[in-house]
Amino acid sequence: MRVLVTGGAGFIGSAYVRSVLSGKYPAFADAEVVVFDLLTYAGSMTNLAPVAESERLRFVHGDIRDAAAVTAVMAGVDSVVHFAAESHVDRSIAGASDFVTTNVVGTQVLLQAALEAGVGRFVHVSTDEVYGSIDSGAWTEEEPLAPNSPYSASKAGSDLLARSYHRTHGLPVSITRCSNNYGPYQFPEKVIPLFVSNLLDGKKVPLYGDGRNVRDWLHVDDHCRGIQLVAENGRAGEVYNIGGGTELSNLELTHRLIAAVGADESMIEPVADRLGHDRRYCVDWSKIAGELGYAPQVGFDDGLAATVEWYTEHRSWWEPLKHGSRV
Ligand code: NAD
Repeated sequence: MRVLVTGGAGFIGSAYVRSVLSGKYPAFADAEVVVFDLLTYAGSMTNLAPVAESERLRFVHGDIRDAAAVTAVMAGVDSVVHFAAESHVDRSIAGASDFVTTNVVGTQVLLQAALEAGVGRFVHVSTDEVYGSIDSGAWTEEEPLAPNSPYSASKAGSDLLARSYHRTHGLPVSITRCSNNYGPYQFPEKVIPLFVSNLLDGKKVPLYGDGRNVRDWLHVDDHCRGIQLVAENGRAGEVYNIGGGTELSNLELTHRLIAAVGADESMIEPVADRLGHDRRYCVDWSKIAGELGYAPQVGFDDGLAATVEWYTEHRSWWEPLKHGSRV
C-alpha cells in the first residue's frame, strides 16, 4: 500500500508520518509513505529526522498547486492524507493570497489528480475553525460553515471542494475537522510553542485582548489517531469532528504555561486583540467516537508537561526557526 501524505514535513503531518513509520498503526505497518511537501517556512526535514532512515519513506519536494508534479506523485497511490496548507491565522490577516492558492487551489489540484489516478481513499484534514465561533454548546458535523478569518475561509473552501469531489465525482473523500493541536515540532509562531520559547528566553508573552477566547486543546498524537481511524474505516462523503475535551481560555492556558516553566504573571503582556478573533470553538466529536471508537488518550496535564519538556530540551530545533523568521 502506498500512502501520499501532503504537508508531511509540517507539525501534524510529520507527527502522522512518524507514527505510521514507527509502526503505531498496524493496518499501515507495511505501507510505503510518500511525503509531498513544499518545505515552506513551516515545513522542515528535521521534523522527519527520527524516521529518515526508514526504507518505507520517500520524500518528494513539490507544490500542491503544481498540477504536473501532483499528477506525477499520485501515480500508484492508494490513499491520500492531505495536511498541506498555510495554517497560521495571523499570517492570513497580514496577507491571504498564499492561503487561497495553497489551501483552495492546491486542494482542488490534488482532488483532481486523485480522481484521475483512481485513489481508494482521500482524507482531507480540515479544521473546526470552518464553523466560525460558538458562544455555548458544540458544533455537530451538520453545522453550516461560517468561517471568519481568511485562513478559516480558505480552509472552508477546500473543505467544500473535497465534499464536492465526493458528491459530483464519487471520489472516496472523508473530511476531518479538528480542534487546536499542541505537541512537539509545532512551529514557534503558534501560541503554545511561542509562549514556552519566550518564557524559556526570559521574554514576556503577548496575550491577545482580554485573554478570554476559549479553545479546545488536543494532543497532536490524538489528532493523528483520529485521522488514522478515518483513513482506515471512515465512510466516504462523511465529515468527522475530532476534539480533545480540554476547553481553556487563553488566559488559563497562559497561567498553566507560566507555572510549567516556573515563571510568574509579570511575564504576561496584554496586546491589542487579533482582528476578527473568534471567541470560542467547540466540536461535538460523538460521531467519530461512536462510529470509529475514537477517544483522546493523552491527558492535557501530562501532554502539556511533556510538550514543555520537549521545547526545553530541543532549543536547537526552535531557536533557528524563531530567529530566522518574523515570528
Ligand atoms: P504546518 O503549517 O505546521 O504545516 C504545513 C505543511 O504544509 C508544511 O510542511 C508546509 O511546508 C506544507 N505546505 C504549505 N504549502 C504547501 C504547498 N503549496 N505545497 C506543498 N506543501 C505545502 O501546519 P499544521 O499545523 O501541521 O496543520 C496541518 C493541517 O492540519 C492543515 O491543513 C491545518 O489546516 C490542519 N489543522 C491544524 C490544526 C492545528 O491546531 N495546527 C488544527 C486543525 C486542523
